[in-house]
Amino acid sequence: MTEQMARIPVFDGHNDVLSRLLREGREGAEERFLNGQKNVHIDLPRARQGGLVGGLCAVYVPSPGREPDANGDLPRVERESALDQTIAQAALLRAIEAKSDGALQVCVSAREIRAAMAAGRFAAVFHIEGIEAAGPDLDLIPVLHAAGLRTLGPVWSRPNIFAHGVPFRFGHGPGLGPGLTEAGRELIRLCNRLKIMVDLSHMNDAGFWDVARISQAPLVASHSNAFAICPHSRNATDAQLDAIRDTGGLIGLNFGVKFLHPEGRADTELDISVMVRHIDYLVQKVGIDHVALGSDFDGTLISNRIGDAAGLPRLFAALSEAGYDDEALAKIGHLNWISVLERTWGA
Ligand code: ZN
Repeated sequence: MTEQMARIPVFDGHNDVLSRLLREGREGAEERFLNGQKNVHIDLPRARQGGLVGGLCAVYVPSPGREPDANGDLPRVERESALDQTIAQAALLRAIEAKSDGALQVCVSAREIRAAMAAGRFAAVFHIEGIEAAGPDLDLIPVLHAAGLRTLGPVWSRPNIFAHGVPFRFGHGPGLGPGLTEAGRELIRLCNRLKIMVDLSHMNDAGFWDVARISQAPLVASHSNAFAICPHSRNATDAQLDAIRDTGGLIGLNFGVKFLHPEGRADTELDISVMVRHIDYLVQKVGIDHVALGSDFDGTLISNRIGDAAGLPRLFAALSEAGYDDEALAKIGHLNWISVLERTWGA
C-alpha cells in the first residue's frame, strides 16, 4: 500500500490555523500560510501534499489563562478582547484569500465547496469556536453571517453568557456544569433561522441536550472522539452519538492524542491504529454516512505518526487496510461533511 494509492480528498471539520498565525505575528501571516513554513500542522503546501482540500477554519479566542477556578472552570473572556480577536482572525482569513491568487476561497455553500474542490482551490469555511464576541442581543450574529460565517460553536471549553464549555478532564464524563442560558437558547434559534451550523464540540452534557431539544438542524460535533474508547470529558458519550445518528448529524475525528489515547496520555508516538479504532466505533454507532474528520490541526498535540496535514494519506492507508473501501474513504474524507453542511445550510 503506497500513500499515493490512498490519497483521498479531505474536507476537515476543524483547524486552528488562524489563531496560530496571529499568535506568531500578523506581519507576513498570509505568506507563511500560502508559501509554507516549518513545524506547523497546516499551510497550503502541506495541505496540497496530504490531499487536504478544505475545511472549517476556526476563529478561536485565546483564554486569559489555563488555571481553573474553584469550580474547575477555565477563566472567562471579556467581550471586548473577544471581538477584537474575532475580527482580526476573520480579517486574516479574507486577507489570505485576497493574496492567494485563487488558491483559497472562503465558501458559503456546499455548491461553492464542490466548485472550489473541482478547481483545486482550498475551500475554507468561516467558523467561530466560542462566541464571546456577541452580546445577549445577538446583533453580531447576522452581521457575521453577512460576512460569511456559516458555523459556530457557542462555547470553547469555558463558560460564557450562552452556555458552559466542558472543562478538560480525563476519566470524567461531559456532565460538568449547567446547560444553555436563556441567551443561549435564543442563539440556537437564531442560528437555525440563519442556517448557521451549531457545533457541539466543547459543549458540556447539559448544553448538548438543551441544543438537541431546541435545534431543528442535524446535531454535529466537529472535532470529538468516542468516550467509550477514551473517557475524556471532551468526547461524545454513547447517548450523544445516538442523538447525532438520529438527527442525521455528524462527528469528526479529533487527532489530538489526549482525546484518542485510552489512558489519556499525551503520547506523541500514538499508533494510527488507535485512530482507526475510534473510527470503527463511531461508524458502528452512527453509521458510515455520519463519521468524518475534525483534525484540530494547529490546535492540539498530534501523533508524529501523522505529523501534519501532509500525513493524512497515512490515516487513509490504515483505514484501507482495516477494510474501508473507496466509497467509505471518500465519505469519511469529504462527502459526509459536505452533505451535512448542505442539509444544514440548504442547497
Ligand atoms: Zn476545539
